[in-house]
Amino acid sequence: MASFSISSSTIRLGIFISTLVIATILVFQLLWLRKIYNFEQKEFDHSVIKAIRGLYEDMNVSNYNYAHLNELVENPQPNLYLARISLPLNSDSLTSYLHYELEDFGIFTDCYTGIYSAGSQKYIYTGLLKSAVTNGKKISVIPLLLRPYDHLTLYFPNRRQYILAQMNLWIISSVVLLVVLILFGASLYYFYRQKFLNETQKDFIHNFTHEFKTPVSVISLAADVLKNPSIAQKPDKLAIYAGIVGYQAAYLQSQTEKLLNFAYTESDQLHFSKEKVNIHELIQEAVNNLAPLISEKKVLLTLELNAASPFLVANRDYLIIVIVNLVDNAVKYSKKPVITIATKNTGSLMILSVKDNGIGIEKDQIKNLFKKFFRIRKEDTYTAKGFGLGLSFVKKIVVAHGGKIKVESEPGKGSIFTIELPLQ
Ligand code: ADP
Repeated sequence: MASFSISSSTIRLGIFISTLVIATILVFQLLWLRKIYNFEQKEFDHSVIKAIRGLYEDMNVSNYNYAHLNELVENPQPNLYLARISLPLNSDSLTSYLHYELEDFGIFTDCYTGIYSAGSQKYIYTGLLKSAVTNGKKISVIPLLLRPYDHLTLYFPNRRQYILAQMNLWIISSVVLLVVLILFGASLYYFYRQKFLNETQKDFIHNFTHEFKTPVSVISLAADVLKNPSIAQKPDKLAIYAGIVGYQAAYLQSQTEKLLNFAYTESDQLHFSKEKVNIHELIQEAVNNLAPLISEKKVLLTLELNAASPFLVANRDYLIIVIVNLVDNAVKYSKKPVITIATKNTGSLMILSVKDNGIGIEKDQIKNLFKKFFRIRKEDTYTAKGFGLGLSFVKKIVVAHGGKIKVESEPGKGSIFTIELPLQ
């Protein structure tokens, strides 16, 4: 058993580290993509500025000193450039030079151009320099920014798509990496689940053998003794052996019932009828069912039945199973059991709690308690009999009644299981 807990925690550590590594790789990949995007944006800006410089040189369109080109070009939006020019000038040759310069500097995306006259505060020419490469959105008007100087407007509506298209290779490789990481994570998870299922299956078979083999061997030994004709002359012994057979048979029956209950409810949702029940009576009935165990383990049992309104609408058999399981666990997992079963009403709720002074439960195990087949692997608990099905069944019943179950526990001191059920 110890080997399972070690390998299982090693796998958990492995999964934790892998998740951390995957998350780090993803974060770095995203930062990397962002960096490339910023770089491509800068490249685009530089290329546009260079194309404008080329245009100034080709056409001598500016009287300004274009050694300080950055001062002559305004970039009010990422995809909009206003370059100072001196009017008048020939729009046909301007656009053909501009087209040539843009392509020369590797800008292959549609560019809307406009020649703005500060005197008339409007475009005196607009046109589209179409690129064969991009096929993005078309616009009908280009942004008009009123400036006190004549300028040439260059507007690239598809700049973002164009830059992203330049990053195609990076984006595709990131998506491939993401898919590989997701597949890797999924296979790790699958492997862990498979391993957990295998272990719980092994565990179940171990428990099953343990739970059924011992009573069957005891019964067959007792039967051998009972077969002996001399036993008829010893009525005391006869009674003892008959008692042993009866006790073991009852035990087998209760375990079989547990398994059948589980198998039955496993295949389907819980279906049950509800009636008005008195929780105090159900507690009493559960305690009566457990009387042999209570006296065998010399349990100090206290009932604090303080619920002023003990009536609930619920299924009595299932609620008895809930109480029996909780008290049975409280006895099983306590060395010298001192147990308190308490009830109270809070608002429209019935609160039922079972408190013990047992071995308690570590904090990190509490979330697993209600999983099927889960048993805590410690020397002192593992000797207690069980399949690890009780609490999962208890939770199923409580939830089906619209209630909740909570556990508070301190290792070495004891546990308290609290159930909240709606009164209606
Ligand atoms: P089983 O008792 O058959 O193992 P349960 O589902 O009832 O199965 O309980 C699951 C596990 O929770 C137990 O194996 C035990 O380790 C732990 N447990 C349950 N109740 C208590 C309790 N009152 N005190 C300490 N541990 C408990």
